[in-house]
Amino acid sequence: MNIVIVGHVDHGKSTLIGRLLFDTNSLPEERIKEIEEACRMLGRKLEFAYVLDALEEERRERKTIETTQIFFRSKKRSYTIIDAPGHKEFLKNMVTGASHADAAILVVDVKEGVKEQTKRHAYVLKILGVDRIIVAINKMDLVDYSKEEFEGVRESIARYLSSIGLKPQAYVPISAYNGDNVVKKSNKMDWYKGLVLVEELDKIEIKKKGYDFRFCAQDVYKNIAIGSILSGTIKEGDELVVYPEESEARVKEIRYGTERLKMAEAPLAIGLILEGKIKVKRGHVLCKGKRPKVVDRIETYVMCLIDSLKENEKYELLCYTQEANCKIERIVEKLDVETLKRKSGKELKEAEIGKVVIKLEKSVVMEEFENLPELGRFAIARNGKLIAGGRI
Ligand code: GDP
Repeated sequence: MNIVIVGHVDHGKSTLIGRLLFDTNSLPEERIKEIEEACRMLGRKLEFAYVLDALEEERRERKTIETTQIFFRSKKRSYTIIDAPGHKEFLKNMVTGASHADAAILVVDVKEGVKEQTKRHAYVLKILGVDRIIVAINKMDLVDYSKEEFEGVRESIARYLSSIGLKPQAYVPISAYNGDNVVKKSNKMDWYKGLVLVEELDKIEIKKKGYDFRFCAQDVYKNIAIGSILSGTIKEGDELVVYPEESEARVKEIRYGTERLKMAEAPLAIGLILEGKIKVKRGHVLCKGKRPKVVDRIETYVMCLIDSLKENEKYELLCYTQEANCKIERIVEKLDVETLKRKSGKELKEAEIGKVVIKLEKSVVMEEFENLPELGRFAIARNGKLIAGGRI
């Protein structure tokens, strides 16, 4: 299961990651020794934020390994923490679909409560469709593990989250630093009757929703369309519709490497030999069943990641393997994630969120994010450089 850990700076995200790795025995022995040694030299107790620094270092040295993923195992399953805190990559990867988070842990410092980034990150989760959230109220050791302090912060977080339509699965009082209620049950908070953080994660079920057959052509070699089945199943002889042109095609053969298959299902990467009038090209979407949305104008919320997004300027829209030139026809409103007030403007700057109308030069095929995330999110780029992202 893929998770992200978000929250305001210094509220304890790195420490929590270190603690999760340490208490689930997901760190190699020699790595722990090194960290202990480093902490001793600095005259400090084992500091878990260093675990992450040590991993960072290792990643920098071995440039070939996956740069943004950290793994740990609970009793039930293995987890990948996609992206470490503070990395801009997180947002970029999520909007482009390079990674998808099944759930999020929102870390809040019990003494500081809800801060600007707490709100911003929560809003980003909302925009990206990550609605399975566990709130970890951290640094409980600093308030003598007080139930009253916990309840106070819990209420203020709940108020903000509910105002943007999010309902977390649980609020867990933890001390990442001391290891209370992260993997091991704390004996300092008898008043807390819920599960520890990892048990709450284990409770989340990832249900892969079934959806009609969708195949997005990535490449075409001779008469074989290559790509991944995004959803559903396909059999030899099936009648398909090729979008956005809406012409019909019949499946003559399904190829998987050198094999020929009678049927195939998501998420297999296959080659399709088709019969029909149209010559399939990269970016064409082959469908069975329900009609997808074929759109040339989109009104939705987007988040600007870098630079700025301006009214009337030209960009490229990317949705899975589809590409289309586009223009920001209008910025309908900008959203202040702190106050949730709406304001007007002609430009979205870095980290700003707004509702925009995008006019495309040609039609693309999309689906609602809830039904099929791969075709439900898009990126906006200029000269190939990613600027913003959004979802349907
Ligand atoms: P990040 O910016 O959210 O990744 O925060 P860090 O993990 O770097 O933590 C910021 C500071 O808070 C560090 O000095 C940590 O040692 C400290 N910290 C983190 N968790 C706890 C905790 O549970 N209790 C206490 N007392 N300090 C903590």
